[in-house]
Amino acid sequence: MGRTLNQESTDLNIFRDLKSMLACYQAFGIENFPVNLEAFKSQLPDRDLMLEELRKDIGECTRCKLSKQRTNIVFGEGSSSSKIMFIGEAPGREEDIQSRPFVGEAGVLLTRLIEKMGLKRSDVYIGNIVKCRPPENREPEDDEISTCISFIDRQIEIIRPEVIITLGRIALQSLMKNPALKITTVRGKFFDYKSIPVMPTFHPAYLLRNPGDKWKTWADAQKALEKIRPEVAK
Ligand code: SF4
Repeated sequence: MGRTLNQESTDLNIFRDLKSMLACYQAFGIENFPVNLEAFKSQLPDRDLMLEELRKDIGECTRCKLSKQRTNIVFGEGSSSSKIMFIGEAPGREEDIQSRPFVGEAGVLLTRLIEKMGLKRSDVYIGNIVKCRPPENREPEDDEISTCISFIDRQIEIIRPEVIITLGRIALQSLMKNPALKITTVRGKFFDYKSIPVMPTFHPAYLLRNPGDKWKTWADAQKALEKIRPEVAK
């Protein structure tokens, strides 16, 4: 019988813990181990395959009422080994048609931000809290979020980024499980999601309406960047 996604995810975490431990020994001058780190790496479960399996698990999902009016499920896209993950709230009209996250006007702005950070869109992973478009682009409702959120949880578990940037209030509140968080007061301050730093910032759709706040998102993005490129902080 094949290994389950959860088993592979656990294996991945064990291998990473072991790798960190070995790196720590090396830092203390212990150079030789009866273990080949490259061999370890080759044993790591394939994250692309794990994401594919998750996509198969989701299938033609009808677990919540958002399934009724969607055209396509928008699973998420990008590098499965990305150090940085962007998470929005839900697909919009263009995303629903193309089955890709952040491809409308807001997506163009997000892509510009990613490029300004010195990255390519294909370097990062982009997903949403719910995978189907809410009718008339309304906010996703609590029951829809609670039904769908396990999928983005599993994507984070598989990709294990070094930093997450949440885009907008719904993404932050949903990931942190705290409906009291207000983006205007908490943006720019790190949160913690299962030991991964989370930087909340504005949703690009908000920035299209309020371009004067773009610099704030750029400042937030730079803080997130410092987590993956410490030299940026100098
Ligand atoms: S939003 Fe999520 S849970 Fe609801 S139907 Fe779509 S994939 Fe399934």
